[in-house]
Amino acid sequence: MISQYSGISPTGDLLLLQKLGAKLRKKSFLHVNSTKAGGGVAEILQRMIPILNGLGINTRWEIIEGDDRFFDITKKIHNAMQGNPEKFTKDMWDHHYEINRMNAAKLDLDANAVLIHDPQPAPLIKFRKKGKWIWRCHIDVSNPVKEVCDHLMRYCSKYQAAVFSVARFARAMAIDEFIIPPSIDPLSDKNRDLTAEEINETMDRLKIPQDRPIILQVSRFDRFKDPVGVIEAYKTVRKYNDCILVLAGSPATDDPEGEIVLNEVREYAADDPDIHILLLPPFSDRDINAMQRAATVILQKSLKEGFGLTVSEAMWKAKPVIGGAVGGIPLQIVHGATGFLVHSVEGAAFRIRQFLNNPEMAWRMGEKGREYVRKNFLITRQTRDYLSIWYSLENKGRNILEL
Ligand code: UDP
Repeated sequence: MISQYSGISPTGDLLLLQKLGAKLRKKSFLHVNSTKAGGGVAEILQRMIPILNGLGINTRWEIIEGDDRFFDITKKIHNAMQGNPEKFTKDMWDHHYEINRMNAAKLDLDANAVLIHDPQPAPLIKFRKKGKWIWRCHIDVSNPVKEVCDHLMRYCSKYQAAVFSVARFARAMAIDEFIIPPSIDPLSDKNRDLTAEEINETMDRLKIPQDRPIILQVSRFDRFKDPVGVIEAYKTVRKYNDCILVLAGSPATDDPEGEIVLNEVREYAADDPDIHILLLPPFSDRDINAMQRAATVILQKSLKEGFGLTVSEAMWKAKPVIGGAVGGIPLQIVHGATGFLVHSVEGAAFRIRQFLNNPEMAWRMGEKGREYVRKNFLITRQTRDYLSIWYSLENKGRNILEL
């Protein structure tokens, strides 16, 4: 399994991964999150679980289930943790806890290491029996609503360690904190090489013309992804450059706001025939891959962002990228080298035009981007990091330099 990555991932990562795998072989590793499909967490877990099992680590992935009210509450927690003012009552927190209690009764939480992803299942820590429990925060917590953050931290501080994607997100917690940026899998259907026929077949099926430059953003329909801002930037660009815009996204089962935002976006695009808004079914990996490969410029104009996997996905395809200067996006886009960071609609429009008018510069940045992702954001590196943390927690206080 790991050998499939040789020649693609950095050799040092593969070596360390094998050594850590050998140390942790036969131990059990449990991941828990709240959706199988939609969004970056599910995207990574789908690919990482088989890799971990391939290393001989007994790895499981469990999903917590909840009612509509639970997901409304957790979306509000998510929004508040990313800085949006939201009103919370004791009753809401009680429901958050209660649903987790019911899940704990059903799930097998017994493992040597348990990685709990994001706020939705955070209260599960109350039901820990054994093992190292790590809370993995994927969202942008650079400026959270204090009361909401304080409440959530009552759970998170009970874990043995917390992991954030970006150093700026780390909180002053009494437990160990680690920084691990997410990653993409170069071998997945989302990122593997595609033939020109595969790309053309997909674009024809999706009815996206390829006779003009394509500006693309792939993301859940979420206001933090600023789809309306993308349309505004596109409208400015269209005054000078002929191009089309594609906004592609699918609903996540744990995101009840998707449909409302999609309607807003449709309304804003009105009936412009050159704006293609695609509602993709879950698991549209190959279609997304093809669109990213067919695109001329790729945007991730987020206003808040945990990491923004779509940025690395685009860079891996050697595409010129433009991203909001928030969350994990500046980790990936080295401004002026592997893409451009923007702070406004005007900035986005300016950079889109710059790429459209300078194909040679766009090509150069795209190539640099691909190498940057190879070194820093492939799944082998992230798996290595998770195992390093687990191994270090198991051997705390001991000299473990010698693997
Ligand atoms: N994605 C997808 N279908 C969609 C929209 C997004 O498969 O309709 C994928 C996208 O390619 C990326 C992930 O979901 O792999 C989104 O991760 P990101 O970190 O960009 O944002 P998140 O949704 O986690 O906030």
